[in-house]
Amino acid sequence: MEELQKTEIEFIRTAVGFLGERTNGDECVYCGEKLNKGEYCDCPHAEKINKHFKKIRKYTENLNAYITLGVSEKELRKKVKATCLTPQLFNGMGFDDYIVECESEKNAKETVLKYFEQAIYNFLYGKNLTLLGNSGTGKTMLQTILCNSLISRWFFSCKFVNAVDLKGEITRCFNSKSNKTVDEVVNRYKTADFLFLDDIDKLTPTDFVKEFIYTLVNYRIVNELPIITSANHTLEELDSQFYNEVIVSRLINNSPVVVFNHKNRRFQA
Ligand SMILES: [Zn+2]
Repeated sequence: MEELQKTEIEFIRTAVGFLGERTNGDECVYCGEKLNKGEYCDCPHAEKINKHFKKIRKYTENLNAYITLGVSEKELRKKVKATCLTPQLFNGMGFDDYIVECESEKNAKETVLKYFEQAIYNFLYGKNLTLLGNSGTGKTMLQTILCNSLISRWFFSCKFVNAVDLKGEITRCFNSKSNKTVDEVVNRYKTADFLFLDDIDKLTPTDFVKEFIYTLVNYRIVNELPIITSANHTLEELDSQFYNEVIVSRLINNSPVVVFNHKNRRFQA
């Protein structure tokens, strides 16, 4: 069987494993109403979970389009990677390349690896991941490995951006020669399956910065699209000095926070 089809079948099986079936034959499992093929029931129970099934459909429709075109697994992987722009410094690295020498590193690696292993759950329910710690402790490396792994394994559309670069990209839109609008830039980051936002506290928190971060984070939270963030400051500092309680609490709500408290400069980025 075609490799992409195998991926698709495994994706559906895992996702339905979390959600349960929504139909039994042509009937809604909750209220028994007859449904047309592909139709979503509008009874209250079904409405609670339809959004998750719509995510599965979006994922499979996207993959099916490539299968129909005869795109190989390798070609698709390359194509998705090309739109993501992870830091080249860590190209080709996997979880095995993140060497563990202390408890903090062990915990960091385990948490990020677990996030990867539960990728479909995190995708369906919009679970975030926050990495906090000093620079040089490997946050960017682990984020890059996670991002590349999500692409390699499941072909998720991922966007990886350093917050400072994102601000630069947005600011350039105000240049009269720019052919992009702020909305066009922000929309690309709004809708990716997974957004990696590195160093969110490297930005000076002006009203403009707070506003676009809020717009982006809020859109993704409301639509249950995961955000993986990293910062050098503690949650309290992020809260009081950079953004505000609303943004920070939304990022960490119900999602793991990894604290890198080792002082190690082996991972330069
Ligand atoms: Zn129903």
